[in-house]
Amino acid sequence: MFRLFSSGVDDLVLISSPSNGEVANNLGARFDRELIYTNIGEVLIALNPYKQLPITGPEFIKMYQNSPGTGEAPPHIYALAERAFRRLVDDGESQCVIISGESGAGKTVSAKLLLQYITAVSPNNSYGASVANANGGGNSLPQYDGSSELVEDEDNLPQYDGGSDPPMGRGFGLPPIGANGGGRGRAVPPPTNRAPPPQPGGGRGKPPPPVNNNRPPPSVPSGGGRGGPPPPVNGGGRGRAPPPPRGGGRGGGPPPKIVPSGSSRSNKQVDVEYIKKIILESNPLMEAIGNAKTVRNDNSSRFGKYLEIQFSDNNAPVGGQISTFLLEKTRVTFQQKHERNFHIFYQMLAGLDQGKKSEWGLTQATDFYYLAQSGCTTIEDVNDGNDFMEVQQAMDTVGISKSEQNDIFRILAAILHIGNIRFQGEPPAEIIDDTPVQWASSLLGVDPQFLAQSLNHRQIQSGSVRHTQYAVPQNPDQAAGLRDALAKTLYDRIFEFVVARINQTMQYFGSAKVIGVLDIYGFESFDRNSLEQFNINYVNERLQQIFIDLTVRGEQREYHEEGLKWKDISFFDNKIVVDLIDASKPPGIMRVLDDVCKTVHAVDSATADQKFMEKLIHAIPNHPHLLISNTGSGANEFTIKHYAGEVTYNVEEFCFKNNDNLYASIVACMQTSSYDFISNTLFPDQLGNNTISSCTYKIMNSANELVKKLSSCTPHYIRCIKPNDKKQPMNFVSSRVEYQVKYLGLLENIKVKRSGYAYRQMTRYFLDRFGKIFDQPPRSIPEFVDQICRKCPEIKNDEFEEGKSKVFVRSPETIFIMEDQLMQK
Ligand code: ADP
Ligand code: MG
Repeated sequence: MFRLFSSGVDDLVLISSPSNGEVANNLGARFDRELIYTNIGEVLIALNPYKQLPITGPEFIKMYQNSPGTGEAPPHIYALAERAFRRLVDDGESQCVIISGESGAGKTVSAKLLLQYITAVSPNNSYGASVANANGGGNSLPQYDGSSELVEDEDNLPQYDGGSDPPMGRGFGLPPIGANGGGRGRAVPPPTNRAPPPQPGGGRGKPPPPVNNNRPPPSVPSGGGRGGPPPPVNGGGRGRAPPPPRGGGRGGGPPPKIVPSGSSRSNKQVDVEYIKKIILESNPLMEAIGNAKTVRNDNSSRFGKYLEIQFSDNNAPVGGQISTFLLEKTRVTFQQKHERNFHIFYQMLAGLDQGKKSEWGLTQATDFYYLAQSGCTTIEDVNDGNDFMEVQQAMDTVGISKSEQNDIFRILAAILHIGNIRFQGEPPAEIIDDTPVQWASSLLGVDPQFLAQSLNHRQIQSGSVRHTQYAVPQNPDQAAGLRDALAKTLYDRIFEFVVARINQTMQYFGSAKVIGVLDIYGFESFDRNSLEQFNINYVNERLQQIFIDLTVRGEQREYHEEGLKWKDISFFDNKIVVDLIDASKPPGIMRVLDDVCKTVHAVDSATADQKFMEKLIHAIPNHPHLLISNTGSGANEFTIKHYAGEVTYNVEEFCFKNNDNLYASIVACMQTSSYDFISNTLFPDQLGNNTISSCTYKIMNSANELVKKLSSCTPHYIRCIKPNDKKQPMNFVSSRVEYQVKYLGLLENIKVKRSGYAYRQMTRYFLDRFGKIFDQPPRSIPEFVDQICRKCPEIKNDEFEEGKSKVFVRSPETIFIMEDQLMQK
């Protein structure tokens, strides 16, 4: 059946003379026939059609779910999803899917299709006997019908008593197989009703705290933070102020990970359909706070995301964890022309009721500088008001209480007012109009004068003497910088809170095998590249390293072990580039940057960048992958030879962007908030710890963790390609595709595959299966080769190589021919 709509060379390993142009041509020919998916071995290339093609949905899921083997099904995202899921089931091993490509190439859509497939084909309860695919045809699998019917049987659910070593899977004392059927009968209330109870101290419906304008401005706190500053505006006693839980610390450095209190879900509540619901519904929520309209993509993800779905022994999703990377915080305060801020701001303005809007001083987008500056506040075909309803529903689902939602939206409103604060005059800069700062302070529950002083003074820690801080008056530009830092920090912490809460609600306590899905920007090379590109390209270098490690090296290792006559293919090992960027000894670029950032607080941004450039020239001379053409005093560029090509970085603002150290005065001010959600939940920082916190340091740590996770999984790759820059349906611009083919490293990929073997199988099984082609099954590989070459003259005998335990077949076509022969039997 599949053969009918499979067409042309659907595996690029088979093209005759691979070059970037040839690859692009081949993709183009297929694209013209609306074939957007193509393979390179098991790597899937996906072109964005910019139109809905009738190739997804339940019918197609069923088709791929029942497909007999990888050789048969034409390239499709469901085929890849099926392969990943089948390996999880058959081998009991964790899997990961790495999706890359440039902005607008279709990564996020691909990730959604994957999740759709996996939630559809996996069982709906975590203790059932029906194990996907173990029963051959898969017809008896629970079929996903989109209904939200929930099934739960408290008596039969695995019990977890909160101990440190929860029992897992089969050891749970699971019900006998028959119990599965019984369990399905009992309906329980919809999952939204099971959301954790509201948190105390949230301040639902609370009018703005009274502001005491006569209060003398509190002094900027000095020293260790929480002791000095003035009492909260509202009079402290809001009761409960437990020490906030400390995050386990992705990255190890500050700021502390925000871990919301309460709402922990123990494994008693494992409810597969609820988990599936969260997996699917958390998407619109994450997109509301992490996506924005850019010139490249109306719904562009401005962060990287790794979602791990945890599976029980019977392969049902029982939990999940999200890790995020590189949220583009600057978007909160700045957007280019024709772009927007994060969706949530517009959704809130469109969807909040009028009463709330007046209470929070909200009017329309064009009244707020953070939304108005780009000249774009709406998106074609998008209804922000409706989306707001969906977001609130998703918040309910993931366990964010109504009171917390109120806190979050109130802080977002405060951010909009913060953006309207203007400064003028000599240091300390004076605020031009008090209204925005009054609104902001009231919504944040802090004293307006204290807030003002935290913006026009900057607290600086003396370089040598600890606990000695002094407040430096700021000029209008510097004060505006602090203002923006406050807005970005507030936003970033809300983002982290939401992610942490989703994780808390989904977390499965116990080791489980996972399928991870990584949706992260691919390699970037623009006309002008800055620290953002530097970071993202670094992560991509690390991903390339895993790719090489897991595929090339893995292949070669196996050939060696099997004793094949195999000449090592030469591939570029990019370890040298990774070291150039992140090594500590001798120092890599990140290290040099951090050293400069630590020592230059008092100087302006341009001087710091200059110092960085000088140090770089000095610290890393003559590196084969680092080019600095101008080493004179005005030098402001360096070029890295990445695995995918050369990229030139302009160092302007490198130091400023890299310095993620929170301004102590801002944190101190937020910790005086009368809102527990702000003072404790969002700002649990302990001031005074003078640990480094740089953006590159954090991304290096996140990358380390990611690499560790991915390395323990069987990888699957999706390379997304954007066929044109105008979001036009079915328009293929060859030059654009060729460019991406190059930056995705597809040729390298094809080369490795071509010089290797497309198929391998244990000799025993191979003979068992393909021996059936002949009436007298051959008993050895040489016998088999002899017979098959006589029967099918298009197969050459050098197609096969016998190793110690396995037989290897060079081209997939040979396998196709043999499969055909089998079918004719
Ligand atoms: P990325 O995450 O790579 O930046 P997206 O996945 O957000 O890109 O895709 C951008 C847009 O392209 C989507 O909003 C959608 O309109 C379109 N698109 C992407 N993939 C597909 C697809 N497989 N079918 C139809 N449209 C798609
Ligand atoms: Mg995206």
